[in-house]
Amino acid sequence: MRRTIQRLLVVAAHGDDETLGAGGTIAKLADEGVTVALCVLTNDDGSRSESGNGVTNRISAIELAAKILGIERIQVNEFGDNRLDTVGHLELNRVVEREVRDFEPDTIFTTSMADLSVDHQLVSRAARVAGRPGKGSVKQIRAYEIRSATDIGEASGLQPGFRPNCWESLDEQHVDRKLEALRAYGKELEEWPNPRSERGVRALAEYRGSQVATGLAEAFEIVRTVHQ
Ligand SMILES: [Zn+2]
Repeated sequence: MRRTIQRLLVVAAHGDDETLGAGGTIAKLADEGVTVALCVLTNDDGSRSESGNGVTNRISAIELAAKILGIERIQVNEFGDNRLDTVGHLELNRVVEREVRDFEPDTIFTTSMADLSVDHQLVSRAARVAGRPGKGSVKQIRAYEIRSATDIGEASGLQPGFRPNCWESLDEQHVDRKLEALRAYGKELEEWPNPRSERGVRALAEYRGSQVATGLAEAFEIVRTVHQ
């Protein structure tokens, strides 16, 4: 069956969410001719700096990762990392709604409500609001899983957890490109056995692939899909 995705909008709280969550699938779809856009809500990693208050502009890393994955259009907003809960949800919704209106995606990929990160939960909600029925072009919404956000949500007892019901099988080169894009984010990669290590990311691709008896895969939770 040929896929119906033609215009994909990936919505992320932080630069690297898109790569960790769906980098292999983005590379695969871009290779198939799908036009991919990325909307990132924050542009600093203040909470991760050693002093806890440093701010790093991530745009160049986001652009490099996007180029590796084949993303054609990037919109990075200036909200603060780990501070999306101080932004009114109307404002967050408006940012994603504007991107949906301008880009007219048929499909949205976004973060999961099962993630421990409040930023991820708020962005997931904003993407669902922007892509709600009767509001524009969106026919499908999927949530992606992120190592050290979705699995830590699970390990912290968040309910309901991530329940994949859609798998994208990947070639080695898609996973290689995902890892290459992750390296563009430099210090975001940790050493094994941290889940956010190259080996950890690959282990998840192998696990998700073996669930459906394919070599490698990324798993998604379909929020809604409308067939026409
Ligand atoms: Zn994130």
